[in-house]
Order: sequence, then structure tokens, then C-alpha cells
Amino acid sequence: MGLSMRIEGLDTDDNIIELYEESLVSTEYLHNTIGNAMARTGDTGYVLRIVGRIEPSLKSAQRTTQKSILELTKWAYLPYAPEADFYRKVSIVYEKGEQIVRELNFTKAYVLNYEENYDNYSGTGSFHLTLGQKRGEQGKINFGEQEQADAAKVFTPLLPNAFPPKPPAYYDLLKIRIPEPVDATSGAAPTRKELIEALFIKKMGTFSGMADHDTYLKEVIKRYMKGTPIAQELLLKYVEDDSLKELTGDDDGSYYRDSKKTVFLNIDDDFSKQGIGVIFFHEYGHYIDHAAGDLSDDKTFRENLRADFKNIMESRANAMYLSELDPKLIPMLGNIKIRLEDIMNPNYWNGKEKPLIDYKELYKIISKELMSNNLSAVSDLYSGLSIVKVNKSTERIIGNWQHPEKYWTENPDKIYIEAFAHCYEAQFDPNRRANFRKYFPTAYKRFEELLEGVHV
Ligand SMILES: [Zn+2]
Repeated sequence: MGLSMRIEGLDTDDNIIELYEESLVSTEYLHNTIGNAMARTGDTGYVLRIVGRIEPSLKSAQRTTQKSILELTKWAYLPYAPEADFYRKVSIVYEKGEQIVRELNFTKAYVLNYEENYDNYSGTGSFHLTLGQKRGEQGKINFGEQEQADAAKVFTPLLPNAFPPKPPAYYDLLKIRIPEPVDATSGAAPTRKELIEALFIKKMGTFSGMADHDTYLKEVIKRYMKGTPIAQELLLKYVEDDSLKELTGDDDGSYYRDSKKTVFLNIDDDFSKQGIGVIFFHEYGHYIDHAAGDLSDDKTFRENLRADFKNIMESRANAMYLSELDPKLIPMLGNIKIRLEDIMNPNYWNGKEKPLIDYKELYKIISKELMSNNLSAVSDLYSGLSIVKVNKSTERIIGNWQHPEKYWTENPDKIYIEAFAHCYEAQFDPNRRANFRKYFPTAYKRFEELLEGVHV
């Protein structure tokens, strides 16, 4: 019988909202971050969008619908009051024949955005409702009590069919609860969180040497579970079993080798101040870049990366110029703009031409700004983007971390390849993500689009 939606608040029958096929146009379940300024939070994770029809009519059959829509409007404009009906339970059911084919429950939903539009010509209206699940309760989104496994597969299509996975030996070791298989009679299905965790642990179980590093393993699993859903799922989609080899030499740096589709990881090195597992997810960023068809070889991503660097460098340089300029001269000279081409022109560094500001000082200031552990990835990219050859020496920005100069200069593609892996690694830590949004806003946005493009 098509689509229906039921919304329950704290009170009993009085404020139940029920809408059926004739007033529902579509529903969409997304697990993304929505960049909507209207949203009450910037990092919603899971979003449910519902589009419906409003048909003003006096017919009695329509009145219950109208009452529901009125209640919906009231909910949308309810001020934040967690003890009242701010959070409600939302169930969407899609039935065909007598069978429920899909069911989706947001257990603590709140309104991110609500809009109504009316069309004078047709005499009907529409509403657009966007719901989020309460922060910290995202794991409780579930797929109803019927046909659990099927529905779960439909909504998170990347999860392999072979669930439940055979538990690797260290389930016991890690004291992680093994999700129960879907029970045909009781219908108790694992949540997405349990599924994804089990599949990741299973994957880790195929990596040789991992079982000897239980502290590391626990930390990497913890980090993975904090990741964005899309990054979690792409790892499960692309990373093959047994694709990691441990390096144990003191001087062995980790790397990814395309030709072998293998990550060579120095596990001891990955216990760093930048975060345990940062190198793991960075190297698997290279893996996914390659396995998904060289995503970093994207014109927009590359242009954006350079444009973001240029913007920040120029704004820092011009701020420095203005702060050093004699205020009396601002009306005359205040509109001179320093461009990145000037900053990176060796003639201004070797004394052949006189720069407006001391570029060496500018580089020093930015290097200092990039010293924190959470900026290691940004610092690395700056170390490659800022290289200026001055006579026989090299000037560049070096903050928390950097690749050697030669690494960048012998292959100009490296900067984009590294940028992709850094962006992927940042998916598993909100602070590192925030730094990408700050320093590389348009490249990071393009990166998110590239992930979405292969998340089918
Ligand atoms: Zn790398």
C-alpha cells in the first residue's frame, strides 16, 4: 500500500502524526554531512528527507491529514527542549501488497529544516521536511523488525552480503560483542554500527601480523568507528583481504605500492603524536585512491588545491603588508595586492628585487602556525606547495610534518596524490577534518564529491 510515515512524541495519541501515500511524495535516506546553513548542526551524519503534498480541502477524509500537517509544523518550530517533544520517533514504512519491503526508524529524530510552499495556480502545496537523528544516537537508527537483513542491505548497499562474518580469533581478545545473526523469528538485527564494526574487524583479521598488536588493533578500530560513514563504507568496498604487510625495521617508513595493491606499514611508527592509526588510514587513502580509479587525478581537485593555497598565502601576505604599512600611506598604497606569483618569485628572495614585505618572515610565521599535531597533513602539503629555489638553497614552509623536498620535486603529481590520502585520513578525526575545511576548503569539498562519486 505504498509509503507511510508515523511520528510519535512523548504524549500518547494526541500528537501522533500519520501520513499516507496520498500525501507523501518521496523519502530519501542519506548518510552525509549536509552543508545547509539552515541546519541546526553542521555535522548531522544521517539525514532523512521527506517531501509531501498539502491539499487544502474540506472533505472529512482530508481533515486528519491536515491535522497531521499542522502538528508537523508545530513540531518544526518547537524550541529546543529535550524533555518535551523536541525529539520524536519517526517510522517510515514502504509496503507492497501485504508485505513490508522497507522500514526505517529514527528513534530520536529532530527537525533540521522544514519548508512549506503553496502554488496558487494548482491550489496545492508541498512540504519539505529534513530530519536528523540526535547526536550520539545515530547508532540506534534501525531498519524495522521485518526483513531486517534485506532492508539493511538496501539502505547501506555497500555492506557485503556475507554477514554475519566468521568471527576472527580476537573477538574474544578485544572483548567486542559479536553481533548476533539476523534471527528469522525474532527479527533482531544488528545495527549499522555493529555491522560496520564487525566487518572492519573481520578485514583487520586478514592482515598478517595484526593479531600480535592488540593495543594497536583496538586503537585503529576505535578510530575507524569515529569515521564518516562514507569513508567507513569505501574502505569495506575497496580494500581487499590480506592487503597489508608489516614493516619492522627501525628505518622502514610506511608506504603504499600500487603494483602490489599492498600497504607496507610500520606499526610501531603509527603510535605517534599525530594520533594512533593516522598512518594506517593515510596509506589506505592511497589504496582507495588507486583502487577506485585514481580519484586524485581529477582536474577540479587539483585546481582547487592550488587555489586554496594561493588564497591563504595571499591573504596572510596582504594582512602582513597592511599591518606594516604606515597608516598615513594606506590611502595611497593600501590597495596594492601581493600575489602568490610575487611571493614565490626567487628574485624577491635573493635581493634582485625589493619585496613589499619580508617573504622569509611570512614563511616563518606560517610555519609556526602549522606546528600543531592536528595540522601535520596540512603542513605536509604546504611543504610541497611552497617550495622556492633561491640560488642553491630552498625555502619552504615547514610546520609539524613534511616530506623531503626531493619527494615533491621529482614528481609533480605527488602533491595531489598525498592531498587525497591526507583528506581520506582526516575522515577519521573531526579536528583534522576541520583543519582541511579551513586550509583547503574547495579542494576538501571536491574530495567529498569524489568519494560520493564512487559510493554507489
Ligand atoms: Zn602518502
